[in-house]
Formats: sequence, C-alpha cells, structure tokens
Amino acid sequence: MTTTTDHRTATTERSTVPSDGDERCAWCRRSLPEPAATGRPRRYCRRSCRQRAFEARRRLTELSWGEDQLRGATERLDDASVHLAGIEDLVRELRQDVDDGRSDLAGPAAEELVGRLESLTDDLRRALDSGRRPVG
Ligand SMILES: [Zn+2]
Repeated sequence: MTTTTDHRTATTERSTVPSDGDERCAWCRRSLPEPAATGRPRRYCRRSCRQRAFEARRRLTELSWGEDQLRGATERLDDASVHLAGIEDLVRELRQDVDDGRSDLAGPAAEELVGRLESLTDDLRRALDSGRRPVG
C-alpha cells in the first residue's frame, strides 16, 4: 500500500517575488522602501520588523523543544554573548580612536565603518539578549 500524498509542509515562501513593483515587508506588509544601491534586496521595512520576525521564528521553533534542547540553546547563547562582549569592546575602542583622530583610519570612511559596526553589534546584542530572557 503506497501513499502518494505529499505531506511536505510549506516551510519557505519561495522568495522569487514577482516584481509587480510593490514589494512588501515580510512582517508588517507595508510597502518596502527603495532597496539600497549596494545592499541585498530588503525583506523588511525596518529594523524592528526584522527583529520581530526573527523572534517569532525562534519562539515557533522553541515550542517544539524539550528541556535539554532549551538548556543547550541557552548555554550557546550565553557563550555567544561573551564573544559578542569582546567584539563590543573592540568596536568601542575603534570608535574612541576614530573620534580622537588616533586611528590609522580617518575621515568619513572610518566614520561610516565604525557606524556600521556599531549598528551591527547593537542588532546582535538585542537579538541575543531577547533570546536569553527567561520565558514566562
Ligand atoms: Zn515592516
């Protein structure tokens, strides 16, 4: 007896989005702003939407986890947090050097680089800390 029914569940929306010129945020469905000239195509209209979607995906996964998996994940997040703290220190030092004109890097390029590093580490810190908050 063979079953031919295909029980694959749709886990990914095929993101070859038909470009009808009105692409929408994958979280709040607002129209997306123009993509940055250099960047990847955007999926979310703003950082908070990307963060909400990230948290929702994780909560969904965690619902099916047992105690051991949750504990393991928490430990890995704690480890990652320690590593991130090291990167945050470096970024703070770099920011200080650039602000004080002590860096070999100087000018708008250095300013932009440090700004991007700060923003990326902020995102990562927020994502990590939200994952480490005890649930309930
Ligand atoms: Zn949005």
